[in-house]
Amino acid sequence: MTAKINRMKADERGFYGEFGGAFIPEMLHKNIQDLQERYEGIVSQESFQKRFKDLLKTYSGRPTPLTYAASISEELGANVYLKREDLNHTGAHKINNAIGQALLAMEMGKTRIIAETGAGQHGVATATVCALLDLECIVYMGSKDIERQSPNVRRMKMLGAEVRAVYSGSQTLKDATNEAIRDWINHPESTHYLIGSTVGPHPYPEMVAAFQSIISEETLKQLGEIKADSVIACVGGGSNAAGAFFHFVEDESVELIAVEASGYGLETDKTAASATLGTAGILHGSKTLLLQTKDGQIEEAHSISAGLDYPGIGPMHAHLVKSDRVKIMTATDTEALEAAKWMARKEGIIPALETAHAIAALKKITFKPNQNIVLCLSGRGDKDMQTYAQYLDNE
Ligand SMILES: *Cc1c(COP(=O)(O)O)cnc(C)c1O
Repeated sequence: MTAKINRMKADERGFYGEFGGAFIPEMLHKNIQDLQERYEGIVSQESFQKRFKDLLKTYSGRPTPLTYAASISEELGANVYLKREDLNHTGAHKINNAIGQALLAMEMGKTRIIAETGAGQHGVATATVCALLDLECIVYMGSKDIERQSPNVRRMKMLGAEVRAVYSGSQTLKDATNEAIRDWINHPESTHYLIGSTVGPHPYPEMVAAFQSIISEETLKQLGEIKADSVIACVGGGSNAAGAFFHFVEDESVELIAVEASGYGLETDKTAASATLGTAGILHGSKTLLLQTKDGQIEEAHSISAGLDYPGIGPMHAHLVKSDRVKIMTATDTEALEAAKWMARKEGIIPALETAHAIAALKKITFKPNQNIVLCLSGRGDKDMQTYAQYLDNE
């Protein structure tokens, strides 16, 4: 397969249109080159695919159901199907990628996994898979995030991972990323850097999208004779959206909608709407759309949802949006909270705050009668109960 059959794949230079690439320090060239040269060969092996699919099935509980949301569909006058990534082990889609990359790391002879995490969700998924596969696991986390996300810190420790606090800079995700990169430079032989979204230098975005593509692979099968008209997903770095869009992207008759967090609102400076408001620049090793000042300082993002609170969007999505294949929409903090309540009361499903942004978009779209919509329900809301409880109390 040499022909480029899917826009979710980068070109030979690691780019999606003008976005992507691998902008990395000299000291990382060997690690990245190794990964670029070896990952496709390993991942395409039948034995690898079998192990990957086996774990997705017997460990994570896949295939996740496709649920027809009857009450919401009736209210909207359209057919809404929920792809239930919330029913995965650890409560979100992130485990799909963590399993894939951990198996890849083992094939490459690595015994040690490092990761960085902001909210802790990716850290928990990584720690889980490392416990399962007996890999050493170190998770870098800003000291501010450690305070804010203590339940997830406890989970990672319970699972046997070492959580290393980062006290430099703003003591958040950006600084944790720098520390993880430093670690990788110092341990190039033993260590795999497990990145949690479709971000970072090539081949990470392509690799993460491929591991998450199981989402749309199953959706297509589960829809059977039903033709999807629209697929909707929330987007932080872009991994659940990439997985949900993957097998639909070449079918132009399917509308793809990515929903990003606009925080307090697009007109404020407290937002995470990097595709809508961002400009081209380099963040975490790739060229993409990001929130920055005129002189190129990365701006701090804001979203009520920790998983969407990121100043950039993955390069593949930057390209899909700029080339008009993916339509971008936004939802504010308040719209997301309201949408989560709506979903909980109508369908008996408490979604993650990230997912709630995609749900909020449902209320803003004018649907054709009986239009078929697939919404990627990326995760469950247990982790967000404190925020939800406060919102209900203040009503
Ligand atoms: C992390 C997370 C997201 C955002 O990450 P993407 O890579 O954009 O998918 C969305 N939903 C849930 C439930 C998450 O945990």
